[in-house]
Amino acid sequence: MKILVPVKRVVDFNVKVRVKADHTGVETANVKMSMNPFDEIAVEEAVRLKEQGAASEIVAVSIGVAQCQETIRTALAMGADRGILIETRVETQPLAVAKLLKALVERESPGLVILGKQAIDDDCNQTGQMLAALLGWAQGTFISKAKIGDGKAEVVREVDGGLESLVLKMPAVLTADLRLNEPRYASLPNIMKAKKKPIETLTPEALGVDVTPRIATLKVEEPPKRKAGGKVAGVAELVDKLKNEAKVI
Ligand code: AMP
Repeated sequence: MKILVPVKRVVDFNVKVRVKADHTGVETANVKMSMNPFDEIAVEEAVRLKEQGAASEIVAVSIGVAQCQETIRTALAMGADRGILIETRVETQPLAVAKLLKALVERESPGLVILGKQAIDDDCNQTGQMLAALLGWAQGTFISKAKIGDGKAEVVREVDGGLESLVLKMPAVLTADLRLNEPRYASLPNIMKAKKKPIETLTPEALGVDVTPRIATLKVEEPPKRKAGGKVAGVAELVDKLKNEAKVI
């Protein structure tokens, strides 16, 4: 079984994002970019499935500018076998990404697609769900456990207030939540080996997908500065403030 893992290049999670002076978006020039953290978890899960013998090949795919090759190389260094870059300068939105991934699924016929539950730049949390809908496949979102075998996937989902266990018919789309695993660091020999692994470059046009954005960003602003807190003398004053000032009790 082949596993397809989409990996997005995003502003590194350690970087404090700054809004551009013209309020059209966030600053990405001269900013450290990395693989979306939930996608690292997705790659790790795919590599573990391959190590257990449940998968035979892992294909990492990234959609975006030429530098997304670096993100693909990171996935290859973690254990993916080959990469596909769908090169475009358009800032793709989830529906366009899902359509591109559907076209790739039709070409590559994977048994499983494992995405991150959300990208930390747009926080959309939509792509996996849209892909499953477009393909008509079963979906297991926000998963914290996965067991694959015998034409089915047993997954545990993180839902509000607890966990949900599902059995999915394969092929299926999974999206990785934080507790699924702890991604490995790529070792130096594996980083060297990854340089020799193949990356194919495609375009949205070649896949017959229109990636024109459907949603326009009107304005991006910093969140309002938090006001300084105050000290209370004791419980009575705290209760009084909660009741009469904050009006929350
Ligand atoms: P989102 O729906 O934007 O929050 O993204 C959810 C997941 O879809 C991410 O964690 C990635 O696995 C995948 N994804 C979204 N955009 C891209 C992209 N440009 N390239 C590769 N994968 C992507």
